[in-house]
Amino acid sequence: MRRDYDRYFSDTIGALKAEGRYRVFAELERTCGKFPHAVWHSPDGPRDIVVWCSNDYLGMGQHPETLKAMHQALDSNGAGAGGTRNISGTNHQHVLLERELADLHAKPSALIFGSGYSANEATLSSLGRLMPGLVILSDALNHASMIEGMRHSGSERRIFRHNDAADLETQLQSLEPGRPKLIAFESVYSMDGDVSPIHAFCDLAEKYDAMTYLDEVHAVGLYGARGAGISERDGAQNRLDIVQGTLAKGFGVVGGYIAASAALCDAVRSTAPGFIFSSSMPPVVAAGARASIQHLKQNNTAREKLAERAARLKRLLSAAGMPVMPSVTHIVPLMVGDARLAKQASDALLLQHGIYVQPINFPTVPRGTERLRVTATPFHDDDLMDRLVEAVVDVWSRLDLRRAA
Ligand code: PLP
Repeated sequence: MRRDYDRYFSDTIGALKAEGRYRVFAELERTCGKFPHAVWHSPDGPRDIVVWCSNDYLGMGQHPETLKAMHQALDSNGAGAGGTRNISGTNHQHVLLERELADLHAKPSALIFGSGYSANEATLSSLGRLMPGLVILSDALNHASMIEGMRHSGSERRIFRHNDAADLETQLQSLEPGRPKLIAFESVYSMDGDVSPIHAFCDLAEKYDAMTYLDEVHAVGLYGARGAGISERDGAQNRLDIVQGTLAKGFGVVGGYIAASAALCDAVRSTAPGFIFSSSMPPVVAAGARASIQHLKQNNTAREKLAERAARLKRLLSAAGMPVMPSVTHIVPLMVGDARLAKQASDALLLQHGIYVQPINFPTVPRGTERLRVTATPFHDDDLMDRLVEAVVDVWSRLDLRRAA
């Protein structure tokens, strides 16, 4: 008799449910022009709700310039790219986008990928193969895509304490000076909303002759005079070797990239399996992302509005006694500290108040630090925000959740 193979899967699901970590996707229908309002296809039928956890941080996913570029590219280029980059899949739109990204980050070159995840995975894994003996020094809270890339690199990996330059230096001191080294970190850590000390890490990179790799996924479009991220805001762009980013959050479309020296991009382009063996992004996507980047290079309005909205939201929630975690960015995390309660709070917000905030559980955050991660955008007005705060206070009271200390 055939083994019950499905048992492997249902046992795993059972364990996730028992722990309160089973993920239920909210089935949304985004409605262009109405963001952050959306339709939730609930088990009881469609319902209007307000999204408060989108990573379309600036609403560029519905910006007229983004949409116009996409309509034009769709009509002129059709749907797909038609191949991998090497085999008939390099469209003019890809090349234009790479030029735009290189310019954004003030680097000689850039390389695009299907997602920010694959940009990290493919680049970090191939750097290990390109530099025999490489040691990667990795911040303890780096994203899963960086961790996967580092694992696949086969390189030795040293983890330093989160955002801790002293610990990083201790680790650098212990390495043989002749070995190639790479310091890998993020600018905005998106679950806590804190920011890394880029200059301090670059000082150490210079002192110990290491390269730097910065994930700016939650910062591109949002920070810096032209939207190049925290490295631009802090005047550190020319100190970094590799900047990695996404086209899916601040830029509102989809895709990922690195910007670096011409030789590095060329070597990754030529050797990374995750780049070589995957069909390239549709030209329509590249055109939309480029229009969005161009718009944000020249316009600060959305960035300034986002900062103002996030500050107001933090102020209101804190004044109401809610446990806002100490974020210095646009991210507004509310600590719950328990997977089941975080899910219950999220369910209550959605069912009783028509407000969607996804709970964040392990492994995205450590166990015991489960939270609701709220994101305002320039499109969340005062009225929506006041209603959110009222709803959060109501849910916190009903579930008797921990308040600010
Ligand atoms: N890097 C970080 C820090 C992220 O948080 C994410 C995704 O949320 C990624 C990379 C992956 O980016 P993408 O969503 O474009 O795949």
